[in-house]
Amino acid sequence: MKTIGYAAESATSPLKPMEFDCRSLRHDDVAIEILYSGVCHSDLHTVKNDWGWTIYPNVPGHEIVGRVIEVGSAVHQYKVGDHVAVGCMVDSCQSCHHCHDGEEQFCVEGFTQTYNSPDRHTQDITKGGYAKHIVVRQEFVLSVPQSLDLAKTAPLLCAGITTYSPLRSWNVGPGSKVAVIGMGGLGHMAVKLAVAMGAHVTVVSRSHSKKDDALNLGADAFLISQDNDSMEKAAGQFDLIVDTVPVKHDVTPYIPLLKVDGTLTLVGQVGPLAEINSVPMILGRRRIAGSIIGGIAETQEMLDFCARMQVMPEVEMIKMQDINQAFERLERSDVHYRFVVGMQASDF
Ligand SMILES: [Zn+2]
Ligand SMILES: [Zn+2]
Repeated sequence: MKTIGYAAESATSPLKPMEFDCRSLRHDDVAIEILYSGVCHSDLHTVKNDWGWTIYPNVPGHEIVGRVIEVGSAVHQYKVGDHVAVGCMVDSCQSCHHCHDGEEQFCVEGFTQTYNSPDRHTQDITKGGYAKHIVVRQEFVLSVPQSLDLAKTAPLLCAGITTYSPLRSWNVGPGSKVAVIGMGGLGHMAVKLAVAMGAHVTVVSRSHSKKDDALNLGADAFLISQDNDSMEKAAGQFDLIVDTVPVKHDVTPYIPLLKVDGTLTLVGQVGPLAEINSVPMILGRRRIAGSIIGGIAETQEMLDFCARMQVMPEVEMIKMQDINQAFERLERSDVHYRFVVGMQASDF
């Protein structure tokens, strides 16, 4: 099947339309017409080859919502017309213990990423959601609950699950005290999800500027990391800190905020941190951890949770042809809080 998407040809070239072939349907495949695609910071990192592993031409996008247009002979879970979603993974070995446990993100063979990854059968490089169509094996297709707004569902597939999974892993619920560092695409979802789980939520930020937004999103408190007095008063309070900062930074000032045995989990930055002082970790048996997206079963659980609790991201709709300007704005954090591309035939 011929389709068309927006591709980068090099680390310095803007995204522009490119025709390509979707693979022919295998027996367990679902063909999807993409309706909405979220714009994740990793898309920008990948297009610019910030992590050194980008294969060009690159069609990014791993927050995909669409409509089923065709299914393979062995697909019984989905039918033509269903609203479905695809996140950051499109395949895995399906036989290792992590895959069996529903944590395909830890597949011992490595999961196949929605874009920029070799297909397990053909070795063709996968292409993501900045396109009109995608073909995905049924095990990696998610069902969109009826009560969810389709456009706003897109960011849940990466930003949503990336913050939902650590909240669940560290058993956040009523009575938990959670801090969220950074209020971008990930951070604003961490706030909304933790609030919906019943936690007391504090946003930690460098300045006052995001205070009103944080409280409007449901946060209970706001802490300025440059204010030493407030930081000292807040010491030892938190069960979990979700650190969504996407760039290299120093986590040491945040560690004393944790209770004994508390955990700071990194979900934003991929790469070296600034040098860490071990003293507040040792003195409080505190941990620094990391977390990456979530398994398919947990992603479906998250979508169902968001439908039940009506947790929805704050989005700004854009057209596919405006993606390069959106990337420029994303680079300077000028977005409240996630761009979503509404796919229109006229954009291609
Ligand atoms: Zn992402
Ligand atoms: Zn596996």
